[in-house]
Amino acid sequence: MNKQNIEQEPSLNGSSDHSAFFFGKISSATASLIAFFITQEMVFVALSLAMLAFMVGDARNLRLRDGLLNNPSADWTLWERQNNLLSVGFALLMGAWCYFCFTLTDNLFMHLLSIATAMGNILNIAMRGFSDQRILTFQLFAIGLPTIAGAVSYGDLRAIILCSFFIPLFSSVRDLSGRLNELFQGIQRQSREKEEFGVQLNEALESMSHGLLMFDEDMKVKIINHTARDILNLEPSINCYSRTMTEIARIVDIKRPKVNRIKLLENAIHQRFRSQTSEKVFEIDRNQFVELSIMLRDEGGCVVVIEDVSERIQYQTRINQLAKYDELTGLYNRSFFLQTAKEAMLDQQEVTGASLLFFDLDEFKRINDTLGHEAGDHILTTVAQRVRNLLPGGTLIGRYGGDEFVIFLKVALPENELGQLSQKILETITQPISYQNHDLRFGASVGIARYPEDGKTIDRLLKLADLALYSAKNNGKNCYRFFSAELEDTLHERLSMEHALDFAVKNGELSLHFQPIVCLNTGKIRLFEALTRWQLEGKNISPDLFIPLAEDLGLIQEIGEWTLMEACRQCMQWPDEVSVAVNVSAVQFQVGSITTSVRNALAHTGLDPSRLEIEITETAVLNDMNHAIIVLEQLSEIGVKISLDDFGTGYSSLSYLHKLPLDKMKIDKSFIDDITESERSRTLLKGVTVLGKALELKVVVEGVETEEQKNLLRENYSVDLAQGYYFSRALPADQALEFANNFYPDGGRSKTMSAPSNQANVA
Ligand code: C2E
Ligand code: CA
Ligand code: CA
Repeated sequence: MNKQNIEQEPSLNGSSDHSAFFFGKISSATASLIAFFITQEMVFVALSLAMLAFMVGDARNLRLRDGLLNNPSADWTLWERQNNLLSVGFALLMGAWCYFCFTLTDNLFMHLLSIATAMGNILNIAMRGFSDQRILTFQLFAIGLPTIAGAVSYGDLRAIILCSFFIPLFSSVRDLSGRLNELFQGIQRQSREKEEFGVQLNEALESMSHGLLMFDEDMKVKIINHTARDILNLEPSINCYSRTMTEIARIVDIKRPKVNRIKLLENAIHQRFRSQTSEKVFEIDRNQFVELSIMLRDEGGCVVVIEDVSERIQYQTRINQLAKYDELTGLYNRSFFLQTAKEAMLDQQEVTGASLLFFDLDEFKRINDTLGHEAGDHILTTVAQRVRNLLPGGTLIGRYGGDEFVIFLKVALPENELGQLSQKILETITQPISYQNHDLRFGASVGIARYPEDGKTIDRLLKLADLALYSAKNNGKNCYRFFSAELEDTLHERLSMEHALDFAVKNGELSLHFQPIVCLNTGKIRLFEALTRWQLEGKNISPDLFIPLAEDLGLIQEIGEWTLMEACRQCMQWPDEVSVAVNVSAVQFQVGSITTSVRNALAHTGLDPSRLEIEITETAVLNDMNHAIIVLEQLSEIGVKISLDDFGTGYSSLSYLHKLPLDKMKIDKSFIDDITESERSRTLLKGVTVLGKALELKVVVEGVETEEQKNLLRENYSVDLAQGYYFSRALPADQALEFANNFYPDGGRSKTMSAPSNQANVA
């Protein structure tokens, strides 16, 4: 659209009164006819006809203008040109007519009529308001100059004086026309700005990320933007204008009876509108949330801004969930459990007595490591589900971490009932859990502490229940224990033992003893197993106690390196036929670089690698099979032997055995404990030894305590080596040396010593 043209669009001569405009032309033509009647001059007839012709031209041009007005992209050039021609032409006609009125007649009436008509036309021109001042000036002169010229040539002073009024009139008309034009253009500018503003507003509304609805005082929709339609699932075909939400809902209902977000939104708007709720967020569909802001309009009705906050709400819910619940089991997480239990305890009215149960799964870690974390997750969720189902209502249950769970009972149950509940928990956990093709069975241990008799804060109860749990585990597992004062003493003992062990390791207070491992056939010692000893306040502390403690405290690495070094150093003293076996704990195997420690010990002591044996347990291997294979192969390359300790106590699948570069298999003491009495034990042992042989491993039995056991083993089983109190307990270094030298008087460095007293036991 040509803006320039629109600005010039002469609404003053068009949109205003058309009749005044035509009336001017008709009166001019009539005046010209009157002049003809008075003067009988044909020129006036011609002028009159020409004026009428111009009027017809004007009428046509006006019609053209009306057409252009309806077309926003119209080209106004033609119209403008015609309009200028018609205006200028008519002015020239008028000028001619006035001139002839003076020159062709001396009728005073004609003279006055011509001046009046000229003035009327000049005023008409002013009303037409041309923006182009040149055209205006030309018209004024076209009318004015011939009239004045006529008056002057006629020589009538009165006419000349009258004509002289043209001069101020001209300037007034020019001024008036200018002002009208300015006014007109101002109006046009405003309406154009309004129009532009409307377009921009529309664009803004449509590009808003929020939905917008404007209602009138009858709550009929006046404006709805694209986003609002989207949020409300309104198809473009649905016309909302001037309809209430109920009416729109009805239309939608017919099309999609199931999902009607509009009804829900209408409801929400009503609630908000009537200030029945301070809630701003409403659910208008499954997981679809909107936040409404409502602004009242002065003229009635309101503007509703709708924000789709579904994502934010889902996110908040998720965060809430994460902050409170354990993701895997759906139980309370540790901190939320503690917080809730604390609140319950603070509320004395509610809690007159309470109990805290702490339980965990026996052997969970190993299953998790063996079958993988997916299996572990499955076990934990199953256990959580089962236990939750048997708890009385109002009981809090949370996952404390790993395989540890906590239960807070807000009621004071007598001891026997707590015991029964704990027993039920144990029983439900022991039910097999199927996972893929496995039927997994677990034990669990439960520790119980009571409020208020045992402790008055949740932290204290937790600590005490944990202590009771620890005691349950030490009591053979799969049982429950109540907290008691003695248990606390145990805790203190453990703490002081931790300090003492740390001190002992740092100050070299540990010592190594050596237990012989003998050849069953020859009765000769083949190697010693190095076993670490620690005395605390004159008492021997079992390695079964302090080794796990050292693992917990991170001291095992230090102990391990020292043991290796000391064992190799001692072995250097023994006859060449006698080797040494050193235990390596699972933690040490995983965390430290065992190969480096072995290399160091060998290099430092000069021991032949073939005389060193490393005893590892299944746990060490199974925790990370790939790592185990790499490490064991490195050890093999060094020339060190590897022996699988405590075989048969683990949960192992046998498939891994052939993958490992093993030399020996040590069958656990539990396999031979009652072989002399039980046929079943003998069968079991048979199976294990056959397996060892099939894998081409040397078989060692541990824990041989009697002669009968030794004889039975020697006569019926393919056992290569044996170890046990029957042959000898673990000996201090000097006695071990003596023991070895007795068997190999020529092989060792000290050949003078006599055999130890229990030598007689060896066949
Ligand atoms: P283990 O490696 O199975 O060691 C054999 C254990 O069985 C030793 O207990 C030994 O004294 C005991 N034993 C040997 N023969 C008999 C018997 O005929 N009857 C009975 N009842 N027991 C017998 P100890 O010395 O108390 O060691 C216990 C465990 O501590 C060891 O079991 C080993 O796993 C661990 N251990 C000992 N020293 C070390 C060490 O230096 N490093 C590591 N990582 N673990 C060690
Ligand atoms: Ca061992
Ligand atoms: Ca063992």
